[in-house]
Amino acid sequence: GIVVIGSLNMDMVVRTVRAPEAGETLFGQGFALSPGGKGANQAVAAARLGAELTMVGRVGKDTFGGELLEIMRQEGIHIEHISVSDKLVTGVASIVLEENGENRIIVVPGANIELNVEDIQKLTSVISSAELIMLQLEMDLAMSECAIAIAHSHGIPVILNPAPARVLSDEMLSQVTYLTPNETEAGILAGIAVSSLETAKQAAQILLQKGVQHVIVTMGSKGALIVNHEGVQHIPGFPVQAVDTVAAGDSFNGALAQQLTSGKILKEAVSFANAVGALTVGKAGAIPSLPWLAEVEQFLKQ
Ligand code: ADP
Repeated sequence: GIVVIGSLNMDMVVRTVRAPEAGETLFGQGFALSPGGKGANQAVAAARLGAELTMVGRVGKDTFGGELLEIMRQEGIHIEHISVSDKLVTGVASIVLEENGENRIIVVPGANIELNVEDIQKLTSVISSAELIMLQLEMDLAMSECAIAIAHSHGIPVILNPAPARVLSDEMLSQVTYLTPNETEAGILAGIAVSSLETAKQAAQILLQKGVQHVIVTMGSKGALIVNHEGVQHIPGFPVQAVDTVAAGDSFNGALAQQLTSGKILKEAVSFANAVGALTVGKAGAIPSLPWLAEVEQFLKQ
């Protein structure tokens, strides 16, 4: 199966006509709690497509932590390696959504970043018996580097979704099988400005030179670009009416992992992941917008 090592957050979304000024109190238009975190989103995306999934992460000893564990369990995800902190709270994102679409977000990582190198070393057998591991950058970087090194030394393929963007060491990049930046992240990682297909290609080529095996740049409605030693392939996206782009990248990554572990060649896996991404932007929310396999098959038949 797939092992996702990543974040679990509770998103607290307040809708308001406008954000308050300092010292001001307003009445809001609505409130919702929704499970999130890139790790959780990607795990659920892959599980809904039929992958066997183990999640490695950390939550707090509080109600949000309990709810997140229960949601993961209901999705059929193995949760025994999600540990519970007795010091730190479950990760939360406080999101203020203004009527004009503007958002203001504060993320408190809490227990997520407490998962450390020592914890991951104890899970060496979980990593080495995986078919593939998948990570993002919302966790402790040293822990993530260690997990990737363990996978690499056992010949286990690694998907790294480098989000949110940060500069990574060449050593870490050289152990990544599939790197999946969006255009902004590709630019930051490669140290060049990415604003077109051409510059996305250049950024990917810089990352290949650092030792990544396959760079897959996601490009919103334009689909994705596969860049590896065999060449460059543009895999077009699926036209849809975008309702809410939240979790598009997460669903793309979950789908990519599921497809690769079910034996699909990269080009087909990426095309399928484009369809899953498109379906996700057609619906509101993060986890609520992630499609099940039957929906994707139906969509691809049309
Ligand atoms: P992120 O959400 O991480 O910034 P992208 O915007 O590149 O990443 O979206 C990830 C994937 O989701 C794209 O590669 C594509 O497959 C799909 N996608 C995103 N936006 C759209 C859109 N407007 N129409 C169709 N597909 C989309």
